[in-house]
Amino acid sequence: MTVLMGPGGTLDMAITALERGCESVFVGPKGWSRRPASDELCDEEIRELLDWSRPRGKDIRVAINVMPEPAEIPQMLAKIERYAEWGAGGVMLCDPGCIALVRRLLPEIDIHVSVTAGIFNFRDIAFYEEMGANIVVIPYRWGVQELEEIRDKTNMKLEAFMFQATKRGRICPGRCYSSSYFQIVHNRDEQGKDHHIGSASRGGSCYRICRAKWDLKIDERLYPEAPDLKATPELLLWELPEYVALGVDRFKIPGRERSPGLVGDLCAFYRRALDHVLAGGVDVSALAPEWNEIRERWVRERGRRDDGRIANAAE
Ligand code: SF4
Repeated sequence: MTVLMGPGGTLDMAITALERGCESVFVGPKGWSRRPASDELCDEEIRELLDWSRPRGKDIRVAINVMPEPAEIPQMLAKIERYAEWGAGGVMLCDPGCIALVRRLLPEIDIHVSVTAGIFNFRDIAFYEEMGANIVVIPYRWGVQELEEIRDKTNMKLEAFMFQATKRGRICPGRCYSSSYFQIVHNRDEQGKDHHIGSASRGGSCYRICRAKWDLKIDERLYPEAPDLKATPELLLWELPEYVALGVDRFKIPGRERSPGLVGDLCAFYRRALDHVLAGGVDVSALAPEWNEIRERWVRERGRRDDGRIANAAE
């Protein structure tokens, strides 16, 4: 079965995504999933969502895609064990050692290799498979050729983002610590987890430094056409028939930091688009006008979010 998965930045957003066509939703626990606390859920909310989802046949995945410090590992494993007991179908991880530990602890749970693992090639994927992962989130800068290679050379299920970079950037998602050079705030919660505000890789939100306007200066010479630090991904439409034909198992809609209204419309749009393609449709051009409108809303909201976060870096 091909699964459409939506974002759950809040409990309301998660339920909206499930009601508007997604079979699955991913959420992040506060301090463990690279987003501001406002776009993550506390454990009580995750439990509430799982209780809501179970009788409706919906599936919840939990993103714990940060690099834990040694003392945080037992806490991380205890959380994952709890989510599995409550009925979560899978977890998204990026730390190879933790993937091996979780597989030993929970042989049945799905383990997704998060895009933040920074995979570069087919051998990396084979490594994560040996560690115990069974689903790989395809880096959104990859194309069809790379997807064919993973499909044919590993047993991993494929999960594709509904967005893709149209050109390459200079920094790798998931391996970026640039915001922490500007400012990092250590904020330990009552369980002892450091939220590392300013370092997404350690759990806290970053300051979106890659989205700021930069001047490149080398030996007093200014290069006005400085390259983008990070490629800007675009919402995907035209590639959908090809992805389905390639055997992509799960489609992931990003947007935990967007408004619930936009997320709901996005989920409903992609539900229709995916159903059209799964029914054999190869021409998606009739969906383009609505897609363009949603893309514009997406870019507007992204701009507002980035500007606010960049401003926080300098505070
Ligand atoms: S600065 Fe950009 S690339 Fe780095 S963690 Fe933040 S969003 Fe990702």
